[in-house]
Amino acid sequence: MFGFIKKALKKTVDNIEENVPKKKKYASPEEIEELLIEADVEYDLVEKIVASLPAKVNRVALKNELLFLFKPANAPQADIKPFVELIIGVNGAGKTTTIAKLAYRYKQEGKSVILGAADTFRAAAIEQLTRWAQKLDVPIVATKQGHDPSAVAYDTIAKAKAKNIDNVLIDTAGRLHTQTNLAEELKKIVRVCGKAMEGAPHRKLLILDGTQGTSAINQAKTFHEMVGVDGVIVTKLDGTAKGGALLSISHELQLPILFVGTGEKMEDLAPFDPNEYVDAILD
Ligand code: GDP
Repeated sequence: MFGFIKKALKKTVDNIEENVPKKKKYASPEEIEELLIEADVEYDLVEKIVASLPAKVNRVALKNELLFLFKPANAPQADIKPFVELIIGVNGAGKTTTIAKLAYRYKQEGKSVILGAADTFRAAAIEQLTRWAQKLDVPIVATKQGHDPSAVAYDTIAKAKAKNIDNVLIDTAGRLHTQTNLAEELKKIVRVCGKAMEGAPHRKLLILDGTQGTSAINQAKTFHEMVGVDGVIVTKLDGTAKGGALLSISHELQLPILFVGTGEKMEDLAPFDPNEYVDAILD
């Protein structure tokens, strides 16, 4: 799964192997600092990690230290039907594409899916999601541009209940530059989801562009303050050597990373496993 990170880090690892003789099972803070910087972990975090390590550290201790930065994900409750997920994030982060990827994944698991095009602010967003729905052969609730997004959310959940559909994925607007309106809009969608079905939305997933570094983290904080986020999906990790950004995102936000996007196709979504990821950095 993390072949792309492995490739990006090969140079770093090669360096370490040159620097650390085969028999030496530990590395110095300087060597670890170099490894993390080359993996594009943010410098503040690199310093924090290195400061917390003893003068010489072995692989297991370093791995545990890195794993500690990841907040574990709770498994979603299996018996909720329909399971309603609200997809939020700034325009361009990959929301629409990720909805298609999640829908594809749920279908592969044998579940039925419905999409809700509640980014009614952009006609292009409605069109794009409608095209994905056709391609995936799943139903969609979509209105014209400018209609009430929370009404779309309500109708999507109502239709899911009526048709006994397992999973609801609702797209939302991401025009962060008009923050106040957006905050109100998102809060209203959340409220109305709860009216359509008690406990909904069951997960609010934030989509973050993995190539954006610190600015993605700041956006994430804004969205988290607006409506509260349950988990993060980091996109575009195929187009960057910045695998290290995942460490910063998880540590800064204290939110679990659930999936990573590794391409533009609907198959290009992988569950995120911190263990595997840290191994890819260290191996
Ligand atoms: P939205 O505005 O948040 O809905 O973003 P879109 O879903 O329209 O995605 C914006 C662009 O990023 C599109 O060109 C997508 O094909 C592309 N994209 C989304 N996810 C990924 C990914 O994981 N890898 C790559 N390479 N491109 C992605």
